[in-house]
Amino acid sequence: MGKRIVIALGGNALGNNLPEQMIAVKQTAKAIVDLIQEGHEVIIAHGNGPQVGMIQKAMTELTRSDPEKYIPCPLSVCVAMSQGYIGYDLQNALREELLDRGINKGVATVLTQVEVDPEDKAFQNPTKPIGAFMTKEEADKMVAERGYNVIEDAGRGYRRVVASPKPQSIIEIQSIRDMVAAGLVVVACGGGGIPVYKTEGHHLKGAAAVIDKDFASCVLAQQVEADTLIILTAVEKVAINFGKPDEKWLDELTPDQARQYIEEGHFAPGSMLPKVQAAVQFAESAPGRSALITLLEKAKDGVAGKTGTAIHQ
Ligand code: ADP
Ligand code: MG
Repeated sequence: MGKRIVIALGGNALGNNLPEQMIAVKQTAKAIVDLIQEGHEVIIAHGNGPQVGMIQKAMTELTRSDPEKYIPCPLSVCVAMSQGYIGYDLQNALREELLDRGINKGVATVLTQVEVDPEDKAFQNPTKPIGAFMTKEEADKMVAERGYNVIEDAGRGYRRVVASPKPQSIIEIQSIRDMVAAGLVVVACGGGGIPVYKTEGHHLKGAAAVIDKDFASCVLAQQVEADTLIILTAVEKVAINFGKPDEKWLDELTPDQARQYIEEGHFAPGSMLPKVQAAVQFAESAPGRSALITLLEKAKDGVAGKTGTAIHQ
């Protein structure tokens, strides 16, 4: 029976620059359409690290070229641009793959805003470096004029750091649900979503932050009532003692086991840790839900229970 699946695509599904992305999305589309062909309903989320970095850098250069005319581009706008650009490539690759297999299905990208809590502790401790390196003078100016948080990055210059708050809810969720119900393949929550918070009335304000795409995918999967959250990345399974002689690849993991391994420090912060945390949160969000972490190319085998690390109660 067909399942409703949220797929979170990692960096390897998209490549690091324009030509790489063009090529990478073809393989990504194959892996996704394999699941659609088996009768699953698929909603796609993705990361945006290199892409938002590229856009931010380009926008910084624009400001440098004529500071009178161009103010620095807000990070929320850079994330929106990255969703558009990545969605464009994904839509086309999926459209082509679907048509090649004789499947008549629309694909659409939703520019997705994700609400964050302005009181989130992450805002008091911004840690995520973003964008181009700056000189001391440039950095001082940004701190004074725009209130940026800046760090000195290992002697290579100064960089802006931003917060990575937890996603609370998805602003466009009803549109996403309606599109899924209409049979569309939806791309949403790109780069973890455009971070926003509520101000007075119905107004939303862009936050100078980035949201982890693994956590945002988990919220998306819960809010569309998915059966499965699949986090596709560059490893086939999750390991304990990763990279050590006694490394052990895991086929299955209960939330309790996962918490114990997290405690013991088996998962690297910023890479595998958020995936395992997101998987646990989804698996515990309702009875019957499960998460899967596996390699992009193994998505189909993973759903069939042949590989990957499955996290469920
Ligand atoms: P993505 O772009 O898919 O989010 P990341 O690089 O953020 O990819 O995270 C995936 C990486 O996490 C893997 O390629 C692997 O190198 C690393 N990793 C860290 N700890 C583990 C672990 N315990 N088991 C498996 N992979 C791990
Ligand atoms: Mg990652």
